[in-house]
Formats: sequence, structure tokens, C-alpha cells
Amino acid sequence: MTNDAALAGLTALLKRAHVLATVGELLGWDEQVNLPPGGADQRAAQQAALAEAQHAAGSDPRLGELLGALEGQREKLTTDQRAIVANARRDYDRATRLPADFVQAKAAQGSRGYHAWARAKAADDFAGYAPVLEKNLEFAKREAGYLGRGGAPYDYMLDRHDPGLTAATVERLFDELKRDLVPLVREIAGSATAGRAREAAAKLKGFPVAGQREFLREVTSKIGFDYTRGRIDVSLHPFCSGTGGDVRMTTRFNEDAPLDALFSSIHETGHGLYEQGLPVEHLGTALGIHAGMAMHESQSRLWENQVARSRGFWRFFEPRFRGVFPAQTAAIPSDELYLAINAVEPTLIRVEADEVTYNLHIVLRFELEKKLFSGELAVRDLPAAWRAASRDLLGLEAPNDREGVLQDVHWSDGSFGYFPSYCLGNMLGAQLWYRALELRPGLEDDFARGDFSWLLGWLRENVHAQGRRFSALELIQRVTGAELSPRHLVRYLRERYGTLYRA
Ligand code: ZN
Repeated sequence: MTNDAALAGLTALLKRAHVLATVGELLGWDEQVNLPPGGADQRAAQQAALAEAQHAAGSDPRLGELLGALEGQREKLTTDQRAIVANARRDYDRATRLPADFVQAKAAQGSRGYHAWARAKAADDFAGYAPVLEKNLEFAKREAGYLGRGGAPYDYMLDRHDPGLTAATVERLFDELKRDLVPLVREIAGSATAGRAREAAAKLKGFPVAGQREFLREVTSKIGFDYTRGRIDVSLHPFCSGTGGDVRMTTRFNEDAPLDALFSSIHETGHGLYEQGLPVEHLGTALGIHAGMAMHESQSRLWENQVARSRGFWRFFEPRFRGVFPAQTAAIPSDELYLAINAVEPTLIRVEADEVTYNLHIVLRFELEKKLFSGELAVRDLPAAWRAASRDLLGLEAPNDREGVLQDVHWSDGSFGYFPSYCLGNMLGAQLWYRALELRPGLEDDFARGDFSWLLGWLRENVHAQGRRFSALELIQRVTGAELSPRHLVRYLRERYGTLYRA
């Protein structure tokens, strides 16, 4: 068989597996947006049947044969073809090297873990949850072993979300970030402006949902989300799913916190723009999938923070915001509104954190996860270690485990190694931002005219259209000419908040 024939065969099988995966995503979206409570059992049966079909498609022995043939001819493949083969190999190994009974036991453990966590959180009972967490760690390590990564299970966990990422790289980046960020957070929290920003944010009350919906639709369309190839609905927790010509975003509304729906929608729009910008003809292969969760998060953070919290952005949108909500905004001067948009306050809870302190919440989780995997930290000692880290990093100590180690769902079903993507995404986003500014210094003037097309076009060409040809670390080097570094994020936070919060 020629390489071209083998690649054509491989691509066809990958595309079929991808189509099934998108059906699964659609079922998941529907479950969170539309499903009546009485439909839960039927949906579970649908998803189980689909998961079986997906597993069969992803572990099809023909995939293994074609991959073997192509890997034998590696030197004759183009760079793109190698990327397709390497990514397909990752997925195929995961689909075939985990024993079926292990996969089943892990799924059951994940479900038990979730419920145990929910109970433990409600009762503030870490001791009741500890055995589950120990078991989850054991499962994660066994899984790494099956995939040949038993010697470095935490690297394997990171690599699952961001191909090629290692704990050593994350540690180097986070150590540098921490050094600069901890003092900046202390500075901001101690500034008189922090209190004013809090008060300004608290004044934003009574914004009708219909108006919020109208405004966020205008914002998200203007920055480039294509509503002929996507939509936005309401769910309990905002998310973005789907890809190519069918991207589904969600948000949630609170009349007394209008900026929440707005910024979470802009965040999801950043994810959605990435998915809409992937080359549709390549969906299912490495050329048509994102470069990992960190790069995905960089797109949401860049639009949410660098763009939508900028002065230029609000020069254009503030009159519109006031136009939709004349009564609610009448008593709020312009500078107060801008402060409310950029309110910073250390909090114990990650999901409520502002964009400055958020990063420290992630550093904390990474450091503990890494120690759990290396054995340096025992599960039973986790609550005390959490409290100490929270004190060091955030300057805050949780009065209980509910607002400490029990706050996040992630570890309960074995989702380790995911947290760092959020902070790496912030670093990538800031580094992309400064590269864009170098190339187009008047970017904020564009925004002030309501023109976001240059930035989106640049991201389309340099990030979105690249698919997974490169890892996030390789891609950032190619686009910006430099290795990933936290200094761009620190510079951005200092420029925005250092100026705004100078006491
Ligand atoms: Zn996100």
C-alpha cells in the first residue's frame, strides 16, 4: 500500500471516530441545556451505547495496521502527515492499551468519587473523602503504567491535556510567576482602590436578563463569533462545546451581577472562535484539532481579559452598555464602571477569583498535585498542606475544608493534571497579546472603533489554522519568536492593575 493510500484510509477512520465524538458532545450539551428531568435514564442509555460505538471506532484494528505501516515509512512523510500519525497514535494507544475491566472500574470509581466528594463537601468532612482520593491516585498511576508512563505518572496526566508538557516545565514557569505575582497581589489588596472597586461592582444591580442577552449578543458578534455556525444558550455552568460549523456556548444570568454573564460569555466566545477557526476539512485529524487545553484557554483568556477589560474596548462598548441599561447605569460614572470591570480581591474560592489572583490558586493546586503523585505528600496531610499554601500564596486561610481543599470537583473523578492549563493559558494569552501589539501598536484604537478584525485574523492564521501541528510550547515559540515565559503575564497584570490600583 502506498503512503497516500494508507493516509487516506487512516483519515477516513479518524473522521468517523470524530463524528461519533461530536454526537457525544451534542448529547452532553443537550443534557445541560434542554433535557427534561424525566429523560435522564434514556440519556444515560444513549450515552452508554454511543460510548461503546466510539470505543469500537477508536480501537478498530485497521487503525493499528495503518499506523504501523505509516510509522515504518516515517522518513517519507511530510511534517503535516507526521503530526496526523503521531496524534492518531496517542489516541489509539489510549483506546487499546487500557484493559476493559480497568476502564470500567475507573468509570465506576469516578462516579463514586463524585458523590463522595459532594457528600464530604456538604458535611465539611475531608476524612470521609480521603480514601476515595487515595483510590483515584492509585487508578491514575495504574493508567500511566498501562500507557508506558509509569515512571512519571504526573507527567502523563499533564500530557493528556497538553501534549508534551512535563511537571518540570510547569514548575519552572510557576516558580518564576509566583515570585513576581505574590507581591503584586499584596500590593493591590492593600490599595485604597481595591475597596472602591468592590463598592463600584456592588452597585451594579437590577439588570434585566433580556437586556443582558441583547448586549452580550452584540459584543460576542462584534468580536467575531459567527452565529450562523454556533449559538449560545443557558446552563447551570457556562461551557463551550462543538467545533467547526456547529459551536455551542452557554452562559447563565444574574440580574445583580451583569458582568458575570458578560465576561463568562466573552470567555466562552474565545473558546468558540478557536473552534470556529479550525480548518473544517481537517476535523478529526491533528490538523483540525486545537493544540491542547492550555492553548485553548489562552484564546478564552485573551478575549476575556486583554481585550474585553481594556480601555479601548470600553470606549466603544460603554455607550452601548449605557444605552441598553440607562436607568441602572445613570448613577455610575465612567471611571467607576471601569474599576468594577477590573475589580481585584483575593478570595479563598478559585472560581470566584479575579484574573490576578486566579493564577495563584492554580499554582497552589499544581504544587499539591505534584507532591501527591511523587509521594512527598500523603492524602491525609492534604488539608493542612492546603491551608499552609493558601496562607503563603493568597494571604488567606480557609476556616474549613469546604472552602479549602474540598472546593473543587476535579480530583473527585480523577481529573488530575488539568489545573495547570488554566494558568498556562493566561501566560500564553499574554505572550500572544504583546506579540500582536508589536505587530499592530494601535490595537486598542481598533477596539475603540469596534473593530476586532485584525486581532482575530492574526489569531486565525497563526493559532487557529495551525491545528495540532505543534505543541502549545512549540507554537508560542513560532508565533512570538520566544519560549513561553511568565514575564508577559506579569507585565500585563502590572500594566493594567499596577496603574489602576496605585494607591
Ligand atoms: Zn475556559
